[in-house]
Amino acid sequence: MAQFSRISRRNFLYTAGASAAGSILLKGCAGNPPSATSEPAADAPAAAPVAAADSPEVATVKLGYIPIVESAGLIIAQEKGFFAKYGMTGVELSKQANWASARDNVTIGAGGGGIDGGQWQMPMPHLISEGIITNGQKVPMYVLAQLNTQGNGIAISGIHEGKGVQLDLKGAADYIKGFPANEGRKFKAAHTFPNVNQDFWIRYWFAAGGIDPDNDIDLLAVPPAETVQGMRNGTMDAFSTGDPWPYRIVTDKIGYMAALTHQIWEFHPEEYLAIRADWVDANPKATKALIKGLMEAQQWCDEPANRPELVQICAGRNYFNIPPEILTPPYEGAYTMGDGQPAFDDINAGPLYWTDPKGSVSYPYKSHDLWFLTETLRWGFHKDAIADFDTAKRIIDAVNREDLWREAAQEAGFSDIPDKTSRGVETFFDGTQFDPENPQAYLDSLTIKRV
Ligand code: CA
Repeated sequence: MAQFSRISRRNFLYTAGASAAGSILLKGCAGNPPSATSEPAADAPAAAPVAAADSPEVATVKLGYIPIVESAGLIIAQEKGFFAKYGMTGVELSKQANWASARDNVTIGAGGGGIDGGQWQMPMPHLISEGIITNGQKVPMYVLAQLNTQGNGIAISGIHEGKGVQLDLKGAADYIKGFPANEGRKFKAAHTFPNVNQDFWIRYWFAAGGIDPDNDIDLLAVPPAETVQGMRNGTMDAFSTGDPWPYRIVTDKIGYMAALTHQIWEFHPEEYLAIRADWVDANPKATKALIKGLMEAQQWCDEPANRPELVQICAGRNYFNIPPEILTPPYEGAYTMGDGQPAFDDINAGPLYWTDPKGSVSYPYKSHDLWFLTETLRWGFHKDAIADFDTAKRIIDAVNREDLWREAAQEAGFSDIPDKTSRGVETFFDGTQFDPENPQAYLDSLTIKRV
C-alpha cells in the first residue's frame, strides 16, 4: 500500500478550479518551460474548462486503438466524459485489428474511412511521417502525448522452465544458441509488429544476455493468438507482449514471464498518442482539448481508488471484451512470474499513465524519441532513410509536439509539467546507460549491433 500512496499523492490536480489556476502560476515561476507560449491563466475562468476562445474548431475526431492496457487513457477520457468536458463531444474510438491496420487506416485518414490518429508503438509516427512503412507515401504526424509506461513483458513457453531463461539471460545463452544442434531448429521468438517497441524490448533483452537476435534465434512478427497457440504446442518459445497477455499465459499454464519491461528499463517510454499533422494544423484548439481530456483521464487512471472501475470499463464488451479478473492483476502491479521467480506486488511495476518516480508519463520527452531512433540505428532498420543522428533529430523535431502538450497542460492548470525536453540519462537493467546528449556513446558501448 505504500506504493499506492506514492502515486496518489502526486495526482491531486485534475479538476479545473481556483486551486488549479493557482498551481499554474506557481509552476510558471518554478518550471520555466522552454516553449511555453500561452498566457498565464490568471485571467482564466475558475470553473469553466472551455472558455469561448478555446472552444474547439471541431468536436469530432476518429482515433484508433488496440485493446491492450496502453489504450486505457483514451478509453477513460471517452467513457468518463473528459474529452467531452473540453468540448470534444464527438470522439470516436475505433478498435484496430492490428498495428498494420492502424498504419493503413491513418494513411487513408478519417475522410477516406480510416482514422485521424490514435495509439502508436514507437517510432511508428516518425516512420509514417517519412513514408518509411507506407510504401513511400509520407503522411506527416505529430506525437502529442505518451499514453503509458510499462505494462509489457517477455513470456516464455513452459517447456523452458528450469533453464535460466529469465531477466539475466547469460546463464541460458548456450541453451538458446544450442537449439539448432540440439532441437534441429532455432529458438523462436515473436513480437506483434517489426521495428517498434516490443521488437526493441526483446532485442534489448536477448542482446544483453549475449544472444544476437538477428543470427542466434528466429525473431518475427506473429499475431498474438497464433503465438500463444505456438507456445502451447511447443513451436514458439518466447513472446514480447503486453498486458493482458502475460497474465493469461501464466494462469493458463502456457508459460511464464522471463521479465517485465519494468525490470528491463524502469519507467520506460511505451506507447503514444499521435495524430495526422493536417488534422492538428487545421484544428489546434481541438487538439489541445483532446490532450487535456487525455491528461485528466491519465490522472484518473493513476488514482488507485479508480482502478476497479477502470478494469470494468476497459474489460467491457465495447473495448477489450475480456473477463475483468484478467485485467485486475496488472492494475494492482500483481505479477506472478513463474519459473521459481518471486511475484511482484507493486503498483509501480505495472502500467502507469500520468506520472512515475522518474517524471512525467504523459509528457512526450524528445529524449525518448531519440532512444527509439537510436535503437533503430543500432539494428540497422530503415538504414537508407535513417542513417545518422542528424536525420533522427530532424525527424524528431518535425514529429514531436511537446510544445502543444505544455500549452494544454498550462491552459488546463495541471501541475507536473517537466522543465526540459529530456528526461536525462537512462539506465537499463544490465547497467548500460543512454545519455541523450551523447547517443553515440550508447551505441559504442553495445556489443551486439548492426552498426
Ligand atoms: Ca506495448
